[in-house]
Amino acid sequence: MIASPPATTPWPVSDKDEADRSQADRSQADRDEWEARAWDAFCRRDRAADGRFVVAVDTTGIYCRPSCPARRPRRENIRFLPDPAAARGAGYRPCLRCLPDQVARDRQAVATAIARIDAEEAIPDLATLASGVGYAPHHFHRLFKRAAGVTPAAYARARRAARTADALASETSVTRALYEAGYAGPSRFYAESDQRLGMLPGQWRRSGAGAAIHWTMAETPLGPLLIATTPRGVARLAFDEDATMLAARFPAATIREAEPQAREHLVDQLSRIGPADASLPDAARRTAFIEALSRALRADRGTLRT
Ligand SMILES: [Zn+2]
Repeated sequence: MIASPPATTPWPVSDKDEADRSQADRSQADRDEWEARAWDAFCRRDRAADGRFVVAVDTTGIYCRPSCPARRPRRENIRFLPDPAAARGAGYRPCLRCLPDQVARDRQAVATAIARIDAEEAIPDLATLASGVGYAPHHFHRLFKRAAGVTPAAYARARRAARTADALASETSVTRALYEAGYAGPSRFYAESDQRLGMLPGQWRRSGAGAAIHWTMAETPLGPLLIATTPRGVARLAFDEDATMLAARFPAATIREAEPQAREHLVDQLSRIGPADASLPDAARRTAFIEALSRALRADRGTLRT
């Protein structure tokens, strides 16, 4: 009988594991297990492990972030060290390909840009966002997408969509709501709103009158998520909401739980979406997750018709 390979746990490990790692009294078995997971993350070039440790290579004298694109050295030639300072202290130099010293700076740049998008009503352009954190636009775009799972523009549109939903519920007219949400004018608003609201803006204001909504609850890495769709688009994607709250939001709509087959399809779409970098604020990670799922559902209209 062939022995199965050891089970691996994806990064990030829990905070408790991280705290344990620094304890001098950790058992050898614990250290071996941690190193096995670190090696596994390194082999998979797991970006979620970046910032958790660095990999020092004895044969070249350099250290890398876990996701470095370079070829993997042999296991016996590497050491796992807690951070860049420890690696430099041990005489290693930073890799020029993966720039391991940049992990913290990159994360801070993305977090700063997210805070800026969150605070502004108009969607900031990429050049402004990038120069605000000291990066070239193209590079920053890639960095942001990698960390958040969506582009800066997509993230900003997700924020605007959330503001639109709130404004439609509180403003006295659709026109007032669209300006309140940060649209420059009605054309873009109407172009986007059908799919993003799953109904006409006027219907949304009239408590969902005439809309047929299907909902389901799904487990995600960021908590339970309410998914509500109509044949036109995505009516509602929200954490911390359930079918009761959906019914309260749309008392004039026809609301039904999704059929098992439709649910399975939704869950399948959802399972392809990775959460944003764990270093980002929870609210931003949820916004990014919702936007990634919303895009996937809008791209796959078959999901919505079932
Ligand atoms: Zn490297």
